[in-house]
Amino acid sequence: MMEKRIAGTTGLFCLLGSPVGHSGSPAMYNFSFQNQGLDYAYMAFDVKKEGMTDAIKAIKLMNIRGGNFTMPLKNIAATLVDELSPAAKVVGAVNVFVNQDGKITGHITDGIGFVRNLKENGVDIKGKKLVVIGAGGAATALQVQAALDGAQALSIFNQDDEFYARAEETAQKLATAAPDVTVHVYPLADQAKLKAEIADADILVNATVIGMKPYDDQSLVDPSFLRADLVVADTVYNPLKTKLILDAEKVGCKVAPGKGMLLWQGAAAYELFVGKQMPVAEYQAYEA
Ligand code: NAD
Repeated sequence: MMEKRIAGTTGLFCLLGSPVGHSGSPAMYNFSFQNQGLDYAYMAFDVKKEGMTDAIKAIKLMNIRGGNFTMPLKNIAATLVDELSPAAKVVGAVNVFVNQDGKITGHITDGIGFVRNLKENGVDIKGKKLVVIGAGGAATALQVQAALDGAQALSIFNQDDEFYARAEETAQKLATAAPDVTVHVYPLADQAKLKAEIADADILVNATVIGMKPYDDQSLVDPSFLRADLVVADTVYNPLKTKLILDAEKVGCKVAPGKGMLLWQGAAAYELFVGKQMPVAEYQAYEA
């Protein structure tokens, strides 16, 4: 019962961003706190970029223990927190923060969730060659984490838009942060190159908005480029299976859809919040 759950001692975690009303995070974290008997609560607050300086002060003043930043705050958060995890530093974005005695550390768990989702599907990223289509927020986070976790090569494709330069920037940063990883950036319009790069890759990833509603009838990969021993992952989680994932299943590929990445990035955040594993199986059973 709420009046017994929330007391004077209850520590607060929060989601900051705009909009936040649709987020599943409050339900997932409040379920987990209750399930583990932890005296914490999680609330969402609609905060825009111009409110961030005040929000950071409020987190410290009110001793908010930690939480998440979502759109449009992930990049500005990286400039305002006191410390950054190694991945957050390279990515230049923060989706998780932990407040320890007034010092806020920013982390990025999207890439951790991506790598864990592969692992849950029996795929170890170490030594693998990835072809990643996309260079936005999700793409950059997973590219950096894959490199830090020992992938052997990354071939990044993006269309000719403002994100292309971000891919080149990621390649440059990884040359220092993960010098053993071979990183190339190619235009998505070069379909012959895409076909050739997929041909000797282990893992193909779509990290663009294509596949997501209203682009859910589209895929950026010609099904003839796929083969049964290729692992195919998507960051898109709505729909649960994108056209790319469905095409890959038809060919017999092992697949890792975006819902798992979403779940595991949230579970990684929970571990940073409370130092315990999230009760993932219990939450999935509750959610089903
Ligand atoms: P973003 O806006 O930062 O990046 C968009 C990307 O899509 C860019 O690479 C852009 O070039 C590409 N793109 C846009 N229109 C295109 C088109 N017509 N053709 C080819 N490429 C195009 O977006 P984001 O935040 O990185 O999100 C990308 C997807 O990943 C979304 O579906 C989002 O919901 C999902 N996502 C999933 C998770 C997860 O945990 N599973 C986490 C973050 C984002």
